[in-house]
Amino acid sequence: MLETPLTKLFRTTDTQKKALARLGLYTARDLLYYFPVRYGDFSKLSYVKDIKRGEQPIIYAEVKSIRAKKAWQSNMSMSEATLVDSAGDTIKAVWYSQPYISKMLPEGTAAKFMGTVGERAGALYLTNPEYDVIDKIPIEKSGDLFSEDKQELLLYPVYRETRGITSKWLYHKVKKLIADGALDNITDSLPGDILQKYNLPSLTSALVYIHAPKKMSDADAARKRFAFEEVFFIQLVKQDQKIAYQESGAFIINPDKAVLKKFTDRLGFELTNGQKDAVTQILQDISSETPMSRLLEGDVGSGKTVVAALATYATVTTKPTGQTFGSLQVGYMAPTEILAKQIFADFVELLGPLGISVGLITGKDCYKFPSKTEVGATKISKAQLKKWVANGEVQVLVGTHALISKGVFFENLGLVVIDEQHRFGKKQRAALRSKPQEKKEAVQEKTPTKITKKGLVDNTEILPHLLSLTATPIPRTLALTIYGDLDLTVLDEMPPGRKKVITTLVEPTQDAREDAYEKIRAELQNGRQAYVICPRIFEADPSKTKSLLVKSAVAEAKRLATDVFPEYKIGVLHSKLKKDEKNEVMRQFSKHEFDILVSTTVVEVGVNVPNATNIIIEGAERYGLSQLHQLRGRVIRSTHQPYCYLFADIKSETTKERLDALRTAKNGFELAEYDLQFRGTGEMMGNKQSGVSDLAMEAIKNIKLVEAARNEAQTIIQDAQLSKYPALKKQFEYVQEHMYLE
Ligand code: ADP
Ligand code: MG
Repeated sequence: MLETPLTKLFRTTDTQKKALARLGLYTARDLLYYFPVRYGDFSKLSYVKDIKRGEQPIIYAEVKSIRAKKAWQSNMSMSEATLVDSAGDTIKAVWYSQPYISKMLPEGTAAKFMGTVGERAGALYLTNPEYDVIDKIPIEKSGDLFSEDKQELLLYPVYRETRGITSKWLYHKVKKLIADGALDNITDSLPGDILQKYNLPSLTSALVYIHAPKKMSDADAARKRFAFEEVFFIQLVKQDQKIAYQESGAFIINPDKAVLKKFTDRLGFELTNGQKDAVTQILQDISSETPMSRLLEGDVGSGKTVVAALATYATVTTKPTGQTFGSLQVGYMAPTEILAKQIFADFVELLGPLGISVGLITGKDCYKFPSKTEVGATKISKAQLKKWVANGEVQVLVGTHALISKGVFFENLGLVVIDEQHRFGKKQRAALRSKPQEKKEAVQEKTPTKITKKGLVDNTEILPHLLSLTATPIPRTLALTIYGDLDLTVLDEMPPGRKKVITTLVEPTQDAREDAYEKIRAELQNGRQAYVICPRIFEADPSKTKSLLVKSAVAEAKRLATDVFPEYKIGVLHSKLKKDEKNEVMRQFSKHEFDILVSTTVVEVGVNVPNATNIIIEGAERYGLSQLHQLRGRVIRSTHQPYCYLFADIKSETTKERLDALRTAKNGFELAEYDLQFRGTGEMMGNKQSGVSDLAMEAIKNIKLVEAARNEAQTIIQDAQLSKYPALKKQFEYVQEHMYLE
């Protein structure tokens, strides 16, 4: 029954069919696994007639009338509405300094309002209520919704809806499925002893609990079970991958300490303790006969590139133990062309003077350093570059995805470095790692050789060592989960002498904005540059009232040029520009050909313009803290004092508290932990990055649960065939095939 199409199980209209498809619901299983996003509680809803001053009620109401006006004394602009609830009682709502609300909640809009009750001249009103727009006011206690179990069930599931399908409809269909026996022959993929050990409900109970809980603790237990299950299976797949890597061989790289000293002596600074530890770990990893799989995590500017360059230098200058051929090569893959060029430039600077040859390959062009004909790097043809990579003349190849395109073969790839690995698919990573294999198949040359400490063993697959770099600070529990196959090193200290970014929260009043602009003007006058980050590219469609407030990069650039900074030159960067255009804008900005770069979040990662020491982030309340932290990281690349201005529409204490963390937290990791705790507030963009469901993210707040899932997975995976657990094995294979975690 689980695989039966829903359309066979109950009658659906065409609109409903389309709606189901939009939600990805095709079979009975899909629907049973379509979990409520939350639970409503009828007993907690208030009516206008019952509320009192100082309370914070939740009221379902319709907007009867609304307008923008000036407050009588202060001349402050505001919105004022009259709301009517389902019992027909009315109450006023006011939003101070938010005249645009009158556009966002036109008359007739139904919404859930949450705000504090104030009182003026004997009349109660809601102050700055938050709201969730809904289709229509639900029928409550008195109505016929869930009438059969109205007596005991005050909790009701709320599902994500789409046009043509309501939450209520979904609930009735789920109940019908369960009543018709959908759960009767369902097999639980989690072994009974694990369920018992962690006090988790069986699959059947959990499915009932999650859709129709009698009490909140039932729903919680069910969610905990599904979260555990998801984390457990991710761990199982990751641990399996780890074992697979460890079965492969790798080149044993034991660099000469005196050679490494040549690298560090040239730096002109002392490595931080964090960098030294990272280097020690990496050197230990690559001296082993099993391939390294290490993730180096550190804030922007913490010195990851330097560590990667040192690992690269060690690899290309060391004759691996027991080898019979020339020297090893390194491939370095970056997520964007801008970043690849940046890394190429960094590597030419760090390694060029030490006599190392470096190539660059992007979708568009190729470069090589040193040049045979000129000083610096020369542009060469792709064919030429490929030839030099294949014969080992290019020792280090930096590139975008072009690096793993067909036909790029290394002579002897010893180390792969991947920047911001979450931007790459698993397949692409595997493709890079399997280069020697591919080469063998394509060129039919010498058989890869596994080198062990004892000598050579033929016919074993050799994988290059892998070093992954990320500036995306993620909480430890999430790292343990999605990078479960990697060893983790964290650079949690910054090189000395860095100035801390002075971060200011700017509320959306004219005065506060102008104040911030004046401070930036002073910095521009001192010769510095500035970023302005906007959440949108083009002017918002005014018919979509919700986006009215979101600044568009293009329109904002125009506005700043005419109204705010007419004396300065302004450029625009966004994702709709062609690659060439983007590169050109970045080149001009880094050459200070203009002063202010207005941009969407495309500048998020790794762009390095040391002279840009100011950043404004518009709509800051819309981003996760980690993302804000990364955006802010753009301005810490120089010795000048950096400034960050968070322009935010602060509607709630939580938002303020959250953004305040940016001023107080010591580093990105602390912020990532905050993000995790504040998750679910609906204020974050880019949640989907990790590929973990919202449900499992809840669980990831809980280190004990994650560690338990990890330990169980590590134990069970030892039984290589998973032979004792057929249901688990089936689920494992399914997850293995479908998991896409980046
Ligand atoms: P990341 O790649 O983590 O963003 P980089 O390796 O690019 O950081 O380093 C950022 C800047 O700091 C570079 O200009 C680099 O030369 C410098 N730097 C790195 N490590 C140190 C250090 N230990 N002391 C002083 N400066 C450093
Ligand atoms: Mg870097």
